[in-house]
Amino acid sequence: MRKLFLCLVVVLFGCGVASAQFNVQGGSQSPVKVAKPKPKPRPVRKRKPPAPKLPPAKELFGAVEVPAPLAARAIGSYSKGCLAGGIALPFNGPDWQVMRVERNRNWGSPQLIDYLERLSSDARAHDGWPGLLVGDLSQPRGGPMLTGHTSHQVGLDADIWLTPMPDHTLTLQEREDVTAVSMLKDPFSVDTTVFTDLHIKLIRRAASYPQVARIFVHPAIKKSLCQRAEVAGKNHTWLSKVRPWWNHHYHFHVRLACPRGMEGCVNQKPVTGDLGCGKELDNWNKMLKNSAIWAAEQNIKHPPKPPNKEPPKMEPPKKKPPKESAAEDKAAKDKAAKKKMKSWKKQVQLHSLPKDCKTVLTSGGNKLLSVDDQLPPRALRAIASKDAGPSVPILTPAELQIVRKGGQLGMPLPDRNPVR
Ligand SMILES: [Zn+2]
Repeated sequence: MRKLFLCLVVVLFGCGVASAQFNVQGGSQSPVKVAKPKPKPRPVRKRKPPAPKLPPAKELFGAVEVPAPLAARAIGSYSKGCLAGGIALPFNGPDWQVMRVERNRNWGSPQLIDYLERLSSDARAHDGWPGLLVGDLSQPRGGPMLTGHTSHQVGLDADIWLTPMPDHTLTLQEREDVTAVSMLKDPFSVDTTVFTDLHIKLIRRAASYPQVARIFVHPAIKKSLCQRAEVAGKNHTWLSKVRPWWNHHYHFHVRLACPRGMEGCVNQKPVTGDLGCGKELDNWNKMLKNSAIWAAEQNIKHPPKPPNKEPPKMEPPKKKPPKESAAEDKAAKDKAAKKKMKSWKKQVQLHSLPKDCKTVLTSGGNKLLSVDDQLPPRALRAIASKDAGPSVPILTPAELQIVRKGGQLGMPLPDRNPVR
């Protein structure tokens, strides 16, 4: 019996070896394959992005108060770049004044400064515009800004107020306090008593120079330009450069094309010959309507607090309770640092900009801001500076009803029951 059992083991073992050899030799008559259980896929662990070694690009550029001492060059694209060899538009010129000077954003390429000087002089001489109030150009070395703009990074963009220059030189304080006047009567149309023929001529003049690539205005202004272009002459080709964009209702934005032959300067796609007074404007009207309805609804849900008329009571500043222990203090500091890092990671970093922008930042011995440094006082003042203009008018509840029903503001809806 024992012998028989041994014999069976030997026979079975022999079969196993033969079968293995058969498989190795690649025989087609494969014996039954034993399905191996598939290994379970390992959960992919998302690696946390490393903590930034530098503050975000907007802080690095926003902290520098002087231009890069290099040959003048616009580097990169309008919304992702920087400026070498920027020059300042003087605060006062014969036909212009710079506003919000605390922001230190009156820097541009030499071509932009030439353009502004020429436009201000031509507009006064030929169109009767009293002079330009100039808003933001770029920071001394361009780059992303601490507040307010996505573009304006390469020294080829300029904001010009639609408020005419007063007949006297504004004080520095007035330049911080004065607010530009909105051209809008409601979210969809200009107030024709404010947006005059003079404004139309100024925008036409601004668009007329060959170096201008685009001009941005609020869609309601574009609509008015399309309707009233005659006042600025019979040739309307300039209108194709004037493009609608949000929020440009108290200023317009001039964008110059890259100066010819400027290496590393990236142009936006040129405009087509379409004047933009048809379908494009219709699309904008739909977007304006949606946006106005949304803003009015938000205003009803969260009404702004009425301004406090009583003067603030002078109370002694409350003393912060002392932290119970050094460990608690450290924990609070760590929490704040973590929060800062989290917000920084979402922002544009220096390495996302063109390579030469690092040279622009460090040239002239400029020491980069480190993660532990505070922004300098001037940059903090730029962040705190007052908005240049008011926000877009918000529909009243009654106006909201009219707009929702597809009616036009200023025109009564047809009576539902005319017999009444
Ligand atoms: Zn602008």
